[in-house]
Amino acid sequence: MDRQAPEPTSPATVAPMGERNPHLVERLRGFGTTIFTEMSELAARTGAINLGQGFPDADGPDEVLEAAVAAIRAGHNQYPPGLGIPALRRAVADHQRRFYGLEVDPDTEVLVTAGAAEAIAAAMLALVEPGDEVVVFEPYFDHYATSIALAGGRRRVVRLQEPDLRFDVADLEAVVGPETRLILLNSPHNPTGKVFDADELAAIAAVAIEHDLLVVTDEVYEHLVFDDAHHIPVATLPGMAGRTFTISSGGKSFGFTGWKIGWAHGPAELISAVLVAKQSLTYVSGGPFQHAMVTALGLDDGYYTELADDLQARRDLFCAGLEAAGFTVRPPEGTYFATADIRPLGFDDGLDFCLSLPVRCGVVAIPSAVFYDDEDAGRHLVRFAFCKQPEVLSEAVERLTGLRPGMGPG
Ligand code: PMP
Repeated sequence: MDRQAPEPTSPATVAPMGERNPHLVERLRGFGTTIFTEMSELAARTGAINLGQGFPDADGPDEVLEAAVAAIRAGHNQYPPGLGIPALRRAVADHQRRFYGLEVDPDTEVLVTAGAAEAIAAAMLALVEPGDEVVVFEPYFDHYATSIALAGGRRRVVRLQEPDLRFDVADLEAVVGPETRLILLNSPHNPTGKVFDADELAAIAAVAIEHDLLVVTDEVYEHLVFDDAHHIPVATLPGMAGRTFTISSGGKSFGFTGWKIGWAHGPAELISAVLVAKQSLTYVSGGPFQHAMVTALGLDDGYYTELADDLQARRDLFCAGLEAAGFTVRPPEGTYFATADIRPLGFDDGLDFCLSLPVRCGVVAIPSAVFYDDEDAGRHLVRFAFCKQPEVLSEAVERLTGLRPGMGPG
């Protein structure tokens, strides 16, 4: 089975083709072919191991697959309701209660979307006026930049500072002003694997409350959390449920990225506002897969524990391998991404490094610079996805071990 599908939602560019395209509206200039597409093509051309894209190389649970087949056979093949099928909305509400103690009304406070990506884009289109500012933490998942731009918004970034990737609350306060509409948060965080802790979330909540901001929070990696790290939905903080739009996705928690079933919950007025934009994007999507997601969300706690434990073992295997190969690595607390510093190997430009890596040793990675406004800030970093079979990771490490100091470009 070919599982090398392009990462669905990632507009970062190697060459910003949009700048040269006279047809493209001005607000989208500067965005072009996704780096994930380019890197996947490179992987296909060279036969390299693709650790660029964030998708697993094995299917999720059998019972969920069977539920999708059964839903197709049972005739759930026409448009589902605009908000999503009631059973899935109930399953999302049950999940939020089970894991976080959140009370969510499935009739009015849940919206099913075409992946988390649509929820993010629809939220920006529905909630951000042209000229409004949206705060994001940098590095950021590049889909945020195009979604904000689609809405005519302007992004303001707060840097997650190396080495511990904490942010300075003063930096957050400094970017918030009269034009600020919302904070777009992502925890666990792509690309760094950081999990925002209780103090950081409290600081964000305090700023949101003080300035009466909405928070749109992308929690797609909520179950991919390791060691003592603990995912805390920002909606659980005092005063936040009424101003928070929480997004997640079946792609990450259950390993079905191609199904593109996502969901959001929040106050009824936020849900109905975002629905207005969402219904003009896809209207609805994935009827039978929505049914299968009911089965997925209902899996017992053991499934979720095993998912995290299994991924943690892969993280350990892969990060130890990267260290042994000479990279400096900050082991992620969550997600399935590891960021490596290439400087100890004698390289200093992640884009050049990643473009030459498939030919040099048969591995594909993503230059982290694409996740920064200030490309110099992430120049020395590359992101690897470790949601692959252990033997694939071992083979990748073996190949990368050839990149010893002295083998750099000079
Ligand atoms: N948010 C983040 C942080 C992601 O990494 C991704 C997938 N790369 C998405 C959203 C998109 O999720 P989906 O495939 O459900 O649209």
